[in-house]
Amino acid sequence: MAEREYGFDTLQIHAGARPDPSTGARQVPIYQNTAYVFRDADHAAALFNLQEVGYIYSRLTNPTVSALQERVAALEGGVGAVACSSGHAAQILSLFPLMNPGSNFISSNRLYGGTITQFGQTFKRFGWECRFVDLEDTAAIQNAIDENTKAIFCESIANPGGYITDLEKIGKLASDAGLPLIVDNTSATPYLCRPFEWGATQVVHSTTKYLSGNGTSMGGIVVDSGKFDWVAAGKHPSMTEPEPAYHGLKFAETFGPLAYTFHGIAIGLRDLGSCQAPMNAFQTLLGIETLSLRMERHCANAKKVAEWLSKHKDVEYVSYAGLDDSPYADRAKKYTPKGAGGLFTFGVKGGYESCVKLVDSVEIFSHLANLGDARSLIIHSASTTHRQLTPEQQSAAGAGPEVVRLSIGIEDPDDLIADLEQGLAKATGGASG
Ligand SMILES: *Cc1c(COP(=O)(O)O)cnc(C)c1O
Repeated sequence: MAEREYGFDTLQIHAGARPDPSTGARQVPIYQNTAYVFRDADHAAALFNLQEVGYIYSRLTNPTVSALQERVAALEGGVGAVACSSGHAAQILSLFPLMNPGSNFISSNRLYGGTITQFGQTFKRFGWECRFVDLEDTAAIQNAIDENTKAIFCESIANPGGYITDLEKIGKLASDAGLPLIVDNTSATPYLCRPFEWGATQVVHSTTKYLSGNGTSMGGIVVDSGKFDWVAAGKHPSMTEPEPAYHGLKFAETFGPLAYTFHGIAIGLRDLGSCQAPMNAFQTLLGIETLSLRMERHCANAKKVAEWLSKHKDVEYVSYAGLDDSPYADRAKKYTPKGAGGLFTFGVKGGYESCVKLVDSVEIFSHLANLGDARSLIIHSASTTHRQLTPEQQSAAGAGPEVVRLSIGIEDPDDLIADLEQGLAKATGGASG
């Protein structure tokens, strides 16, 4: 059959999966397995020299994890992917081939709270400097770039403030500066947004969220577009210079568009060790089979609940790019035309105290630190995920004291509205009425 470009709904079920050659099993088997027998000594040598692709040891490659890598790469329109143990591991792996002690990278200041801490505090101990900037301020981005800058990082839909990054603008800026643009596409998923179409060169995900979809499995993944020209940029010695641990092999020269993916496995997973468990890859593959269906429902429900909240007397504002009066409504139409996701924040009258009462009063919503689950979730960021940050950082991240974040699930939206209605009545005691 002639090569045909399959649609998203076909790829989410079939990419990376084929009937098991030895048994005919239709679903991807869980290869709960550590090591793989070599055909002979020559085969072993070729694998260890990276002259042949195959399985050696599951810290580097595992067939169930490979199926997940292939599937997510297909959904993002990338050439390859490296799955790993969590979204935070994916962020380290994505930067690891690019950075050295003394290097810096530019990051949006609108990020998942845990990412701000990882970038701003922990990375310092590797000698990696993160320069946080407001991506709306083009001059600030340009001023922050110097000869030691190795990448730009942002989220497509920024968690938790409902902010949508102007990916085309940032993509152009990165390209003009000869820098890779790494986009965390966790909140949008490849169904709603495809960063490679706007100039991103790498995408990272916490697969823990919408991709697995049921709150069962931690995981992360780094996807490469294959489009960044490492040799022309000349800024990333790990990609272009001889690699001592592989007899002086040069990744960019040897592997071309697959260089970054191969480096992520052969050096990143091998030495950082943050491999994904086969069972988690299997659960995530199952989740991805229904990704488009779930995202449509997440978006429709979120819009309905956000519209209802925006008219509620105890609600100060709702920050959801899917609302027509959002400052990001135009960007949502451009970058996430099928919907602005299932995640948004709103401000509760009465501030911190009311928010804490609200999260304790809801019954269907679960009060916990996660997002992208089939069930609806609620969290007050200032008392939980963002409590390690300074008040300025909290506000910059859209997580001030009055802010509650909802991750809207795929339940009956009228039940979600009824739950919030009774919760808000208890939280504010009608005081603002
Ligand atoms: C959850 C999350 C992360 C971190 O992922 P883990 O799987 O929890 O390590 C990073 N970025 C975003 C946008 C997230 O939502």
